Amino acid sequence: MKIDYRDGIKRLIKEYEPVTRSKIAEGVKWRGKIESNTLSSDERENLFRNIIGQILVQGRNAKGVETQLDKIEEKIRNWSLENIEKNIDDIIKRKDKKGRITRKYALASAILEHLRENNICKWILGLLEVDADIPHLGPKSDADFLKEHGFYERVPIDRHTQRFLFRTGALHWFFKKHSSEDVYTIFAGSYQQRIRLLEKCLVEFCKEFCSDVSIEKLNLSENPGILDIIIWRHCGEDEKLGCANICGIEPKCNICVFRETCLWDRLSQLMLGNPQQSEIG
Ligand code: SF4
Repeated sequence: MKIDYRDGIKRLIKEYEPVTRSKIAEGVKWRGKIESNTLSSDERENLFRNIIGQILVQGRNAKGVETQLDKIEEKIRNWSLENIEKNIDDIIKRKDKKGRITRKYALASAILEHLRENNICKWILGLLEVDADIPHLGPKSDADFLKEHGFYERVPIDRHTQRFLFRTGALHWFFKKHSSEDVYTIFAGSYQQRIRLLEKCLVEFCKEFCSDVSIEKLNLSENPGILDIIIWRHCGEDEKLGCANICGIEPKCNICVFRETCLWDRLSQLMLGNPQQSEIG
């Protein structure tokens, strides 16, 4: 079954265009300041708050992290590097029940130590390279932090993106075109390997199907992180956060603009004995 995803992507983008544009405009401003190393002290503090937020959210749902950060802020007053280091025990749990240093504490310490000696802008630019010899937040958190600040070359792979890649058939397309392995081998590797592979899948998907799509002068084939902004809106369940919950836990394929180019819907139709043409393109 061959699917040309080009039209589906265009329809999907159109559906979420205004909100995506404003998100990009905000990101591009951040990127300009980071690349030119012209951050104000408030902006630096904001970045430190975001870094701590990325660490706190790891291994849990993002819901509630902003409230947690607000409470920390009430207590510590500002997010300067010196102040975070001084109050680190109030920000991140140092030891677990067995008295071992927690992973989050070790991660925060390594990053703070690095940023004491190195420029934060340089560190952020370093996150673009997955193998750069700097302390990383983690494959998903690096990409998420970068995306929030206008660096769309990387893609954070969360459960919404995974769901979209599996259901639409993008993952099957990727394995067929870029791997000699079968698609189920995605479950064989470690978490980090899987995240990197899924990120590669979305990067290649955008190169193949999004070369004629740009938003705010950014071409999606070079900025796959933009598609992730759209996927989150489309697949996220939390409508209070602005998600449409179309491709959520219970997919609403009957009202989905991507339907005509989605493997899931195509297979559902076949199972219901309602075959459409098997080739789209
Ligand atoms: S057609 Fe259904 S499965 Fe496919 S993207 Fe839309 S909601 Fe998700």
